[in-house]
Amino acid sequence: MGTSMRLQGRSNKGSWPLLWLLPVAMLLVTCAPDEPNSVKEEAPALPALPPTPGFDQDSAYAFVQKQVDFGPRVPGTPGHKACADWMVAKLRGFGATVIEQTASVTVFNGQKLPMRNIVASWNPQAKERVLLLAHYDTRPFADKDDERTGEPILGANDGGSGVGILLEIARHLALKQHGPGVDMLFTDVEDYGQPNGAMSADDNSIATWALGSQYFSKNPHVANYKARFGILLDMCGAKDARFYREAISMRYAPRHRGPHLENRFSPRSWRTFRGRDQVFRGHG
Ligand SMILES: [Zn+2]
Repeated sequence: MGTSMRLQGRSNKGSWPLLWLLPVAMLLVTCAPDEPNSVKEEAPALPALPPTPGFDQDSAYAFVQKQVDFGPRVPGTPGHKACADWMVAKLRGFGATVIEQTASVTVFNGQKLPMRNIVASWNPQAKERVLLLAHYDTRPFADKDDERTGEPILGANDGGSGVGILLEIARHLALKQHGPGVDMLFTDVEDYGQPNGAMSADDNSIATWALGSQYFSKNPHVANYKARFGILLDMCGAKDARFYREAISMRYAPRHRGPHLENRFSPRSWRTFRGRDQVFRGHG
């Protein structure tokens, strides 16, 4: 997501050949014989996309860098608290109403840890709502890695990238309201799940993950909370990342998987794009 990835306008030098080709092409079109009986096949019209809100990839990247600068954001550590405090201040600065959910949760090894979900809302009176989610805690050990497996990860991608994108969207929400009310849920203690080999895998191991999300689903920040749909981001900062259709979303929210995307992109996966604001749509 660096500066080099920003789309640049064509140079003057590069546009000269096109200027030469233009009159030639017009000549060819003018001189082409009429074909009155031919049936021209036109490409099917694509539905118009709504205006895309602004998105600056470098700004999103800076939000990721800031999180990494706090060090690992493992629940219960000073770096985690400092990052959460910074996020809350940023979100309030972007005009959000912020509600924090704090609780003590028990992780896979029986240890109790503080949990702090952060919910930021824009236009909270609106009934029509969209929920955007990302977790901000980072995994306390690198058990999927081949080296330094016992050390906490910095989480630029796993944790940082989703939050960075949401904060950049929040920055633009501060500048202009876009339609429905928006809630952002930054969940905590999501990646403290049972590591491979720590104990025999069992049917309950999946329940040791996403404790902040589990808490929110049982204790929404407002009574009878309902969003039309939700979009969850995580690990979306890898180079040339691909996002495969996720089975649970396909089952429960097929209407929201993105009809515009269906027509434009690969039928099997969605990619991120390098241009300004494409990350927003690429995950839409
Ligand atoms: Zn994660």
